[in-house]
Formats: sequence, C-alpha cells, structure tokens
Amino acid sequence: MDSPVPDYLTEVAQACSATRTGEPATYIPELATVDPDLFGVAMATVDGTLYSVGDARREFTIQSISKAFVYGLAVRELGHEAVLAKVDVEPSGDPFDELSLEPTTGRPRNPMINAGAITTHALVGGPDASPMGRFEAIHGLLCDLAGRELAVDDDVWRSEMDTAHRNLAIAHLLRSHDIITDSPEDVVSAYARQCSVLVTAEDLAMMAATLANAGVQPVTGKRVFGGGQVRHLLSVMLTCGMYDSAGDWVSSVGIPAKSGVGGGIIGALPGQVGIATFSPRLDAHGNSVRGVEVFERLSRDMGLHLMEVAPPARSVVHATRVVGSGEDAVRVFELSGTIGFTGAERVLRRLAEDPPAERLVAVDLGGVHSLEGPARVMLLEAIRRLRLDGHEVYLIDTEGVLPDADPGDGRLLEQLPAEL
Ligand code: GLU
Repeated sequence: MDSPVPDYLTEVAQACSATRTGEPATYIPELATVDPDLFGVAMATVDGTLYSVGDARREFTIQSISKAFVYGLAVRELGHEAVLAKVDVEPSGDPFDELSLEPTTGRPRNPMINAGAITTHALVGGPDASPMGRFEAIHGLLCDLAGRELAVDDDVWRSEMDTAHRNLAIAHLLRSHDIITDSPEDVVSAYARQCSVLVTAEDLAMMAATLANAGVQPVTGKRVFGGGQVRHLLSVMLTCGMYDSAGDWVSSVGIPAKSGVGGGIIGALPGQVGIATFSPRLDAHGNSVRGVEVFERLSRDMGLHLMEVAPPARSVVHATRVVGSGEDAVRVFELSGTIGFTGAERVLRRLAEDPPAERLVAVDLGGVHSLEGPARVMLLEAIRRLRLDGHEVYLIDTEGVLPDADPGDGRLLEQLPAEL
C-alpha cells in the first residue's frame, strides 16, 4: 500500500496554488527576483519520515525563521534568565522591523522581531566571539538542525546590507542602551548573513521536526536542544512567531510557528510533526500567503491545533485480575497507554476508591508506552502507600518503562514475570 499522506499533501498544495495574492519581499532587492509562483510543502515526523510535494527541494534564504533557532541557541548557551535580561518574551503587535524597545529597560520586546533577533544574534558563540565566529556558531546550529551542510546566498546577503538602514538604526538604538556592545555595523552584517543561509522546505520541515521531537534531530539522532529549552522556544514561537498576526495565527492554526520574508514558514507540533512551506508571495504582515493557507488547512483537516487535544484514555487501568488463591493470590492491575498527570490521577483514584483485598499486588505496565515526570512520581507514591497499608507490591515491566523503581522507602520494586 502507498501511504496516502503524500496524496493528501498534493491535494492541499493544489487547492492552495490557485491563490495568487501577495508579492515577494522587495525591501531586500535580491528577494524580489525570485519566481513568485514557486510552491513547496514538506512534513517530517518525529521518527524522521519526510513527505514533500512541489518545490520542496528548492533553496531559498531562511531569513527570520533563523531567529527562532538562534534564540534557542542563546538560551542553550546562556540560560533562560540571562537571555531574558536582554530580550523580553512579550508579543509586541508591532511590525517585525519596528524601532521599538521597552521604555524602562531598553529591552526588545521579543526575540522574533528584528530588535530582539539582532540582540540574540549578538549573544551567541561565547563571550569573546568575533562577528564571524558568531555566524559560524549559528551556521553550525542550522546545519545540525537540518542534518546537512547548508550554503549561504552571498547575493542576498550583499543585497540586504545595501539596504540595511532600518536594521542599522535598530542596532544603533540597541547599542545606545548597551543591549549590544559590539559595533552595530558588524552585528548587522553577521545577522544578515545568518538570514541568508539557504534552506529548502524539506530542510525546514526537518528542523521543525527537531523541535517537535524535544530537541533531538530525528534522522541524525543528535540532541540539539534540551527538552526545557524547546518548550520555552515553542512557547515564544506560538505567541510571537508570526509577526503582528500572531493572535490570528494562534486561533486559526494553533501551531508554534515562524515565518521569514524569503517565503518560508515552519510549524512544530510537539510530539508529532514538523511542517514547512515555501511560497514567496507575502501578505501585509510579511507572511507567505499560500503558506498560511496550507497551515490553516492542515490544522483544520488533520486536527493539528494545539488546543485540540484527544481526551485522555478513559481507562488507564485496563483490567484487573487475580492470579492464584488464598494467601498466594496476587491482584494484578494492568495499566495501558501514555500515562501523564491525568492518567496517573485515574490510577491513584482507582486504588484509593477500590483498594485491593489481596496482600500481594502486581502493577503490570505491559501496555504502557510512556510514564514519565509527574506520572512516575505519582505511581511510585501510590505504591509506597500500598506498602504502608501492608501490601507486597511487584512490577511487571518487561519494556522498562519504569526503570529504577524506588518508591522512596529504600526498597526497589521487584519484578514478576510477564506470563504471570
Ligand atoms: N533579514 C531580514 C531582516 O532583518 C529578515 C526579516 C524577516 O524575514 O522577517 O530584515
């Protein structure tokens, strides 16, 4: 059987290719020379499967999409608090190139507008990094995310520098507030080079899938960001990623995203997929018109809106059974699914409301896919309390979803065989 996913993507792309509104960016003259009808869509799953249609292998400059990743790099290198001291995380509602800084602190309002992005650019690469060294650190990051060596479009870079008056003005403003300390010209030049890295929609889908995969590149297996860094980055993308139409985007698409004036948009849906589109015609906000349309359709048709969450499985306690009889009878609780806070709460409630009559109890995790964080702590605490109530508790955990199971009373849980 051929997967229907590519056919579905083709259908969506065909439907959106009728849209011819919007124009390629012209304020960077070289961007205006692109064929405005190019159109590619790519989707990468967190286990590294890539689907793409149209011009998804056509290279274009990453532009503002790089801002998201460079912000992630700054947080990775310096930590959240140090970066927050320089750049806030409030949606500005201003156009991306607005010359606005917070009145009291002089901080840019968020890292997705140019003022914030120029600042985060200047933070990375180590305290003594040269402008070129910073660019190299960023280029290395982008290559790690894409899983391949990426080139730079020197024509676009030169063209942006020829007309970089606004970004130079922003950088001078930042310099006057000591938010950046290097020469504004050097910083803007290296920042423009960051924006001129060439990517395809397929690359971008993989980069987004790395975020969806909690920071691990799905194909190379390289950990690029920590899980907490990704959570923070995706939150900022959700609230600030789509220029001054971020509010609209959250309600109609609901996927953390970032767009660039080169015509690209990325979206990363945690735990599921990375999506990327490329179409150079932009709307008044600077977002790709067809790209927005594709994302709206995918979100609606495939239920990808973040707020559209499947209700947790009703019965996390899949079944209970008693094996053996008399003093040797073991009450087995079979748990199933992906157990998070709400799932664990159901298990605990069940144990509290209907405690086992048998002295011997086994928790069978054979049907559980994952049990981490608070769910792990909650289950171990329930087991500790069962022990306090006089039960002997065992685990059936052949897949190792609950390794080093220590309920906190110094006695690791023992295993029973799965065929019990
Ligand atoms: N290099 C562009 C600039 O700073 C990026 C803008 C964008 O993609 O929104 O003006």
